[in-house]
Amino acid sequence: MLEQFFPDLILNEISEIDAAALWQKGYRLLIFDIDNTLVAYHEKDATQKASRIIRQFQKIGFQTALVSNNNRERVERFNQELKLYSVSRAMKPFQWGMRKVMRHFQMTPQETVLCGDQILTDIFGGNRLGLYTILVTPIEINESGFFRMKRRIEAYILKKMKERD
Ligand SMILES: [Mg+2]
Repeated sequence: MLEQFFPDLILNEISEIDAAALWQKGYRLLIFDIDNTLVAYHEKDATQKASRIIRQFQKIGFQTALVSNNNRERVERFNQELKLYSVSRAMKPFQWGMRKVMRHFQMTPQETVLCGDQILTDIFGGNRLGLYTILVTPIEINESGFFRMKRRIEAYILKKMKERD
């Protein structure tokens, strides 16, 4: 049951994604979380670094999209230049946002990768849909009590995952 929370891959940041290897394995669609995955929470616009990495994925041939739990204003501002297909207020781990993206690009779960920084929303949601899930280290650690509690749960899950390996 805990396996539902285990990412398929753990990386420090999105720049470490081996896009060519994913392409080789048959993946064609990359879905990204925004906050703390592509940019820090307070960063309103896409950074040059985030944009460059996404453009590299696109150059290989990947479809790229955003699925965020944040509001429309945040997502649209971030997406101003990138102009990716995007879903805001997705309420991950609910699956409809990711499903909507797959439907838009006519992709199957077997062709889709979900990349995010949170186990309880991004990874759990992606796993339930059967996507390939990549967990990245949050760009910025939020120290509010709610997030601290979430991080503790995540640390527990990752510990269990390591014990299994
Ligand atoms: Mg996030």
